[in-house]
Amino acid sequence: MKAAFIREHGGLDRLKVEHVPEPEPSEDEVVLDVRSAGLNHLDIWVRKGRSGLKLSEPHILGSDAAGIVAAAGAKVSAVTVGDEVILNPGLSCGRCEYCNRGEQSECTSFGIVGLSSQGTFAEQVAVPARNVFPKPSHMSFNEAGAFVLAYLTAWRMLMMRARLRPGQTVLIHGIGGGVALCALQLAKLAGAEVIVTSSSDEKLDRADKIGADHKINYRTVDDVAQCVKDITSGAGVDIAVDTVGAATWPIDFSAVRRGGKVVICGVTSDAEAVTNLRALYWNQLTIMGSTMGSNEDFRQMVKAVTTAKLRPILDSVSPLENVTDAMGKMEAAEQFGKIALQVST
Ligand SMILES: [Zn+2]
Repeated sequence: MKAAFIREHGGLDRLKVEHVPEPEPSEDEVVLDVRSAGLNHLDIWVRKGRSGLKLSEPHILGSDAAGIVAAAGAKVSAVTVGDEVILNPGLSCGRCEYCNRGEQSECTSFGIVGLSSQGTFAEQVAVPARNVFPKPSHMSFNEAGAFVLAYLTAWRMLMMRARLRPGQTVLIHGIGGGVALCALQLAKLAGAEVIVTSSSDEKLDRADKIGADHKINYRTVDDVAQCVKDITSGAGVDIAVDTVGAATWPIDFSAVRRGGKVVICGVTSDAEAVTNLRALYWNQLTIMGSTMGSNEDFRQMVKAVTTAKLRPILDSVSPLENVTDAMGKMEAAEQFGKIALQVST
């Protein structure tokens, strides 16, 4: 089968698209015929080696996927060959104290398809049967293959960690990124007032059409936090959603209101940042980290997305062979929304 993989960590030139052996399902796994697989920033970290992954063999990238069940292991009963499915890429042990508590993304051996196992940028992938779920019928395969990781991450950040309530104000940095856009859609669905930032007026215009209430071009203003204060009558926002890291972290502590929350799920800039501790204690702020989501987060997110018929914003659809260009576009932050790799039709 055709697959996009790396043999060693490094730049875009390390990506190969070649034929590799097809996977066999173990007794509790299914093999998917991948129709479409969405890119995530995680794929860049895995390729570069910053994820901590040690390579022992050619490693297929990719965490998101939608496809059709092609084969099922002997112990699989809940999924049938021919089912149209999406993948929850979170891998948990099911036995540790965190899993027993229902917090699978806090599992002591938590992993992600494409990070800790062979990924989805391939014509086939073997995954645990308990990780596949029916494809939402209102989505195309390219939409369904690009929505789980970003929506699940945004859902847990906003709904479970920051406990967003209707009428609250939310600041989202770097609108255009997958998680940032999902956070915008979900925050609007929840009845929040949303401020977004970008360096691109074009991206801000597109965010406006998706429902962003206020737009800040951080390249053309002196002080993003002051703009946020001005928009919120001097108070600041209830929640800052950070997917950027070092570049935006200092802004968060000036832009959230007293008693506000800063929630971060990843970094597209540096991971080491300066924290204004005086603002943290004096304004009684709460900092929260968030990774992926639990099985219950996933269930609630899929239900909410399906009921509201939300669709991921697709930047583009590329054939698997063009994975290098697609990943280069994401690395340069030129995308607006998810980039889907169409693996088969
Ligand atoms: Zn566990």
